[in-house]
Amino acid sequence: MSDRRKFLKNSLLSSTLLVPGAFRGAVDKWSGLKNGESHKPLILSTWNHGMPANDKAWEVLEKSGNIVDAVEQGVMVTENDLKNLSVGLQGLPDREGIVTLDASIMKGDGSCGSVCFVRQVKHPISLARKVMEDTPHVMLAGEGARQFAIQEGFPIEKEELSPAAEKAYEKWKLKSEYKPVINIENHDTIGMIGLDQNGNLAGSCTTSGLAYKMHGRVGDSPIIGAGLYVDNEVGAATATGLGESIIKICGSFLIVELMRQGRSPQEACEEAVRRLISKNKGIEGIQAGFLAVNKDGEHGAYAVHPGFNYAMHHKEGKALVDSKSKF
Ligand code: ASP
Repeated sequence: MSDRRKFLKNSLLSSTLLVPGAFRGAVDKWSGLKNGESHKPLILSTWNHGMPANDKAWEVLEKSGNIVDAVEQGVMVTENDLKNLSVGLQGLPDREGIVTLDASIMKGDGSCGSVCFVRQVKHPISLARKVMEDTPHVMLAGEGARQFAIQEGFPIEKEELSPAAEKAYEKWKLKSEYKPVINIENHDTIGMIGLDQNGNLAGSCTTSGLAYKMHGRVGDSPIIGAGLYVDNEVGAATATGLGESIIKICGSFLIVELMRQGRSPQEACEEAVRRLISKNKGIEGIQAGFLAVNKDGEHGAYAVHPGFNYAMHHKEGKALVDSKSKF
């Protein structure tokens, strides 16, 4: 948790972190704000944990050429990261002390799958993919999703909190206050969107959701059109932040539809944030961020408040970029 606080502080101090392989002086170019710049292939994902996830996705894409494998295996890195308190089974629990996970995956041809409120499954993104590929359904929830995991041979993990989550939960219980603190400790989904060389898009989104949520609460991440939407004819979008505010405006679907009407990814993300602000009271306490790419490989990002960043990976290198925000 202290890492996350440090991250927030650092991300406010530096605008774009370029890493070896990325060229300097590229801040504007890489900020996503310039229309017309395009990259194919391109992998984008939310937050700083997107950097190692993108590395994996890129490696998979280079090897297999399969964009769905890339976005699945990319976010599995985050689901596996024992230090991550907002994605995977090591994430922060709900108010009953139970970790429940949400995930979705979507291809540019409209195929999609998701799982929500699922327990004891280490890789909900792979379970979501199974739902997409091997069932007539789009979404499985709770115990049904867990039973499906068992049936498909997914290992079922012991239900126990990670030491860091346990410590945070014990501290939270002292006051048991349900007050999401934006950007800092309660949320940070990984949403990944990718475009291959041939113009095929895919996306994935996985999270342990809001920390200390009510038992049974499901966020935007597993809801197709809210946390993720992909259409090969137009582009793809993903979301992070307070799921309730994103669900209310069908955030990712809205962005793709705005791009269909001719807006750039950046303009579409900005319009979605405006819409979100107009439909949610108490916006000073709500953070949400969007990330989008169109089929030509142009991208954009925008958030309600400062602090949202995203990772980008293409042929010329990779970078962690601070998103612009409304406030
Ligand atoms: N959107 C996620 C949720 O509401 C959390 C996050 O992205 O921070 O569950």
